[in-house]
Amino acid sequence: MKRIVVLRLGHRLFRDQRMTTHVALTARALGAEGVLFISGDKTVEQSLRDARKRWGGEFYVRGGVNWRDEIRKWKDAGGKVCHLTMYGINLPDVIDEIKGTKNLMVIVGAEKVPAEVYDLVDWNVAIGQQPHSEVAALAIFLDRLQEGEELKRSFKRGLKIIPKRKGKCVKRG
Ligand code: SAM
Repeated sequence: MKRIVVLRLGHRLFRDQRMTTHVALTARALGAEGVLFISGDKTVEQSLRDARKRWGGEFYVRGGVNWRDEIRKWKDAGGKVCHLTMYGINLPDVIDEIKGTKNLMVIVGAEKVPAEVYDLVDWNVAIGQQPHSEVAALAIFLDRLQEGEELKRSFKRGLKIIPKRKGKCVKRG
């Protein structure tokens, strides 16, 4: 896998602010290079900018995007697109096929996802066939995709946690 980018659809102002921030933090922590979202809500961009300043890395956040244009551009550049939805093919039945992809856009929703998305993408993938959360779906997907390697990654600059069985130890990187 060369590049992973996350596209967050939906986002009801106030109601989804925390969820979108958590989608972005999860994407950052678990190996994506950046997140795109359709709302122009500046609080999400600010939270992620703060996280990057404190914890390092190169992660980017781009709000106010047009989802149709972003999917088209990604596909035109040779990338593949995977939409996470409980209506898709269950993850264990399709993950090996997706693992071979070089550049992958992962789409998660909030409210109802437009029907067109289901047709535009290369894969509609379910993380089990029960409704749960975009954050949980994204985390499980990214982990299975990268076979846990994303947990060993280190981030350039910023604070570094020295793992401890008890207590906390944080150093400047
Ligand atoms: N009806 C939705 C669906 O299509 O999965 C559930 C809506 S849920 C509030 C918001 C987002 O969480 C969905 O758009 C999807 O990206 C993700 N999600 C929730 N449950 C999922 C599941 N079992 N498998 C994959 N994605 C899921």
